[in-house]
Amino acid sequence: MHNTNRRGFLRSSAAVALGASAWGAAAAASGPAAAQAEDAAPRAMHVNHDLHTHTLYSDGAHPIPLHILEARAFELDAIAITDHFTPGSKIHDSEDEFHRYLAEIERHRAGQNDVLVLKGAEATALDASGRISLDPRHAAKLEWVLCDLGGYSEGTLAHTPADKQKYVENVVRTYLGLCDVEFLNAIAHPFNTGNTRPAALPADYPERLLRELAAKMAAKGKVFDVMNDTIYWFHRSDIAPRTLTAQYVALVKIFVKEGVKFQVSSDDHRTGLGNTRWSQLVVARAGVPRSQIVDPKKIKRLDN
Ligand SMILES: [Zn+2]
Repeated sequence: MHNTNRRGFLRSSAAVALGASAWGAAAAASGPAAAQAEDAAPRAMHVNHDLHTHTLYSDGAHPIPLHILEARAFELDAIAITDHFTPGSKIHDSEDEFHRYLAEIERHRAGQNDVLVLKGAEATALDASGRISLDPRHAAKLEWVLCDLGGYSEGTLAHTPADKQKYVENVVRTYLGLCDVEFLNAIAHPFNTGNTRPAALPADYPERLLRELAAKMAAKGKVFDVMNDTIYWFHRSDIAPRTLTAQYVALVKIFVKEGVKFQVSSDDHRTGLGNTRWSQLVVARAGVPRSQIVDPKKIKRLDN
C-alpha cells in the first residue's frame, strides 16, 4: 500500500513537471510572431488534444462524468471518447448500451465550455479486405471513428503469418482496405505489430509499401493516431524503447511527406487521460507541421 501511494505520488509529481513545461512553451508561444516561430521550429509545438480514450463503457478506468471532469481539469482543448465497438463489448453487443453511451456523453459535455468532447468509438479490423466491426448505421451517430488492428484481425494480429514479409504485407493491405471505409476517421496506433510472433517492427515495413499507404491515407483523409503507449505493443519484442522511438519517427516522416494528417492520444486506460508525452516527442521529431495536425473544432458535431 505504502509503495503504491509513493509511486502514485511520484507519478503525479512527474505530471506536474510536464504540465508546467508545456504551459511554459504555450505561454512563450503566443501572438503572430510566435506562431511563425512555431512553424519554423515544430519541436516547440504542443498538441493539446487527446482523441483516443476509453471509459467504463469498455476497458477504461473511469465513468464518463469523471472522464470529462478530468479533461476539464487538465485543460485539454478536446477529447474523443472512443470506447471499443468490437464483438463482446457493451456498446457493440447491446443497442440499449450504445444509446445510453451516446446520451451520457451528450449530457455531460453540455453545460460546459472548457473542453470539446467528441462522441467516438474504436472499431477493429476483421480481415485484410477492410471489413471492420462497425457498420454505417452506428457510425452515423458518431463524430469520431477509429479502427485498430486487434485480436479479431485475421491475417495480422489473429493467425499471424509465420513469414514476416507476408505479415507486413497483410498489415499494409488491411490499412489500405480501411482507407476505403467511408465513415472511418482515423487508424488507431498504426503498426502495433510488435507483440506477435514473428514481431514486425517499424523498420520491417518496406518504404515502398509505406509510401503507397501514406498516399492513400492522404487522398482519403484518414488520420494517423500517434498513441502515447506505443511501447505497450512492443513489450514482448526485444526492441529497446529508444530504438522503437527512432524507428517510429522514421516511419511517421514518410506519412508527413505524403501529407497525411495526425492526431495524438493517450488511448487512456493505460497511461492516463491527456498523457501524450511520447506522442508529442514523435510529432516533434518527425517534424509534423501544425497544418497536418487535426483541428477538433472542425469536426462536425451531432445532436442525438
Ligand atoms: Zn483504444
